[in-house]
Amino acid sequence: MITQASSNTYIAVDIGGTNTRLGLFESLDSTDFVVLAKFPTVQNYEEQIHQIVAAIQNSGREDLAGIGVSAAARIARDGHTIIFAPNLPGYIGKPFAQDLFECFACPVRFAHDTVCGLLAEKKFGALRNIDRCAYLTVSTGTGAAIQLGKASISLTSSIEIGHQVLDGNTLICLCGQVGCLETFTGGRQVELRYGRPIAHITDMAFWETFSDKLALGPRQPGAAHAHRCRCHQRSHRAQ
Ligand SMILES: [Zn+2]
Repeated sequence: MITQASSNTYIAVDIGGTNTRLGLFESLDSTDFVVLAKFPTVQNYEEQIHQIVAAIQNSGREDLAGIGVSAAARIARDGHTIIFAPNLPGYIGKPFAQDLFECFACPVRFAHDTVCGLLAEKKFGALRNIDRCAYLTVSTGTGAAIQLGKASISLTSSIEIGHQVLDGNTLICLCGQVGCLETFTGGRQVELRYGRPIAHITDMAFWETFSDKLALGPRQPGAAHAHRCRCHQRSHRAQ
């Protein structure tokens, strides 16, 4: 799937559980980009990839150096397919990277959005020059990534803090388990249960419970690993 790039133009795609955004980067050394499109994430895979392809084609840029996709989902080790996505179940196992490669003939790589967030903060933001760190996302779902190691070699791993089981929790999660942390903190799950967007909930007792449950997540990453045994790990040079 690797081709020789003759341009420095990259496309970034952010597939969230609620919205999808595309941007065009002229360099990987800068956060400057041009917004190509933003639209509600479509649960149907064929419709979703059609919209992504159309947005890239509309940019008029044919000579791409690569496409990077951040997804609210756990990704196979080869970076080509989605393997676990409670909020995007229709994408699991679909040839996402291959379909984009066939349209644009450039390298395509997927990664879990928590890992992308951590790496971006390492390169450009609050985590620069920090060896051991974590990144937490609280949105449609709840997830995290950690980076361990020292400057020369480090390990980055997404950890499914949202799908670790809490004692005494009998709520059914969108992932199919009973008792996940995300039943208290996932924007979609809360909206389904309460019948309104989480941002519209003003009950302080709700938010105190939300905070208490969320605080358990990063404290027990080992439990999340052991439970699902599907963590996405890869070694890489520190940024
Ligand atoms: Zn779950």
